[in-house]
Amino acid sequence: MREQLKLLWELQKIDLELKGIKEEKDRYPKEIKKLDEKQKIEKERIQKEREKIESLEKTRRQKEGHLNTEQEKIKRAEGRMSEVKTNKEYQALLSEIDTIKEANSRIEEEILQVMDAIDELKKDLSKREKEMGSTLENIEGERKKLQEKTAQGEKAWSERVERRELLSKQIESKMVKLYNTLKEKRQGVGVVSVKNETCQGCFLNVPPQMFIEVQKNNALVRCPHCNRILYWDGDRDRK
Ligand SMILES: [Zn+2]
Repeated sequence: MREQLKLLWELQKIDLELKGIKEEKDRYPKEIKKLDEKQKIEKERIQKEREKIESLEKTRRQKEGHLNTEQEKIKRAEGRMSEVKTNKEYQALLSEIDTIKEANSRIEEEILQVMDAIDELKKDLSKREKEMGSTLENIEGERKKLQEKTAQGEKAWSERVERRELLSKQIESKMVKLYNTLKEKRQGVGVVSVKNETCQGCFLNVPPQMFIEVQKNNALVRCPHCNRILYWDGDRDRK
């Protein structure tokens, strides 16, 4: 019985390990997906900034085009100066030119503001691009780590499944059956250790006499509260 209990205890440990590996196996693809999303957001943010700069460049070109047209008007008006016959006409022409010049200086001012904004954004963008470079590198690193872990998990999984099969054959089928039933009903734990007279499955006290029995590890003893099979995992002198 001692040997059987020991094997059962190992089986339980393997099952818990398998459970852990499975949880990780389920988690990794989700984490990789999260990384993909992070990468996408990062790229979209940069794209938006680029679009903003492009739109400002367009505004600048429009304003410059407008300014050119207005400057042409000034030239034409100045050309008309020599054809003027009266002082009144002359004054009117001068005031026309002044008006256009005033408007033009406003446009020039606006162009300068747009150019400043573009410079600002470009500086920001190049900073962001650098940041994105290292962020993407980090993401790639994490992705690789997760892929490695996945591969390791697969290996650990098959090793344990193999060992589990072997153990199941070595343990009496009646015991395996009982263990499987308990495991199913009790959150994956059918065999538990006892420490300080306390079942480590339900954390309730077991009677002192039972505790002594369990420490011998030569009989199938079950927790009176949660029904799990009890196992003494350690030194008999240690309490
Ligand atoms: Zn218990």
